[in-house]
Amino acid sequence: MLKINNLHASVEDKAILKGINLEVKPGEVHAIMGPNGSGKSTLSSVIAGKEEYEVTDGEIFFDEENIEELSAEERAHKGIFLSFQYPVEIPGVSVTNFIKTAINETRKAKGLPDMPANEMLKLIREKSELLEIDRKFLSRSLNQGFSGGEKKRNEIFQMAMLEPKLAILDETDSGLDIDALRIVASGVNKLKSKDNAVVLITHYQRLLDYIVPDFVHVLYNGRIVKSGGKELAHELEEKGYDWIKEEVNA
Ligand code: ADP
Ligand code: MG
Ligand code: MG
Repeated sequence: MLKINNLHASVEDKAILKGINLEVKPGEVHAIMGPNGSGKSTLSSVIAGKEEYEVTDGEIFFDEENIEELSAEERAHKGIFLSFQYPVEIPGVSVTNFIKTAINETRKAKGLPDMPANEMLKLIREKSELLEIDRKFLSRSLNQGFSGGEKKRNEIFQMAMLEPKLAILDETDSGLDIDALRIVASGVNKLKSKDNAVVLITHYQRLLDYIVPDFVHVLYNGRIVKSGGKELAHELEEKGYDWIKEEVNA
């Protein structure tokens, strides 16, 4: 589904990613961990196609198509979802109306007409029940005064509605409490299938107690320096990152 070969990328002429290789197949969950500043968020932004990042070498294939020339929007329409892609507060636009528009834009890009209203309602009901999201939340203004947990709930709801093939969740270190972690974890576990894949970027070993990854990768200084199974996450929790830095720098 996703294949990254020797990816190099820079921001403002500063090299950040220095040769990333990664392959993600349908049904897999990959966790990407690593010390602060190692390039994790940059990697997710580059995959999603954010414009401030310049790919200087290497390739990204999604469903066997080289996506280098595609805009972030076009990538989203192809089924790549990045958390925090829509962080804006929009007074007067509800959680529901926002996602309706996003779904219809995706359909339009594929040459399809708007989703019929009854079908849309059914989908909203189905997904909000699955995720245990109440009606009141769905009618709130997008992101306005949302708590950390509510932001997560909104993101997971967007993901559930859009049904991406590849979800990239970048769980930054900005004070996620245990409730927010649980919302993310239970959402991901409910939405996971053999046809979709998740790349989970996290500082929190704890999150990986709830979402069990098939693969764990350590990103350090713009490279994946170690890959393993879920036990690698436990090892990192126990020993930190210093031993990895020493291995790399030896
Ligand atoms: P991580 O998510 O692993 O903490 P980041 O990808 O956020 O790491 O950052 C990697 C490096 O790239 C850092 O040195 C950071 O300062 C730099 N960087 C990331 N985004 C930008 C940007 N938009 N402008 C300038 N520097 C950036
Ligand atoms: Mg960071
Ligand atoms: Mg980050």
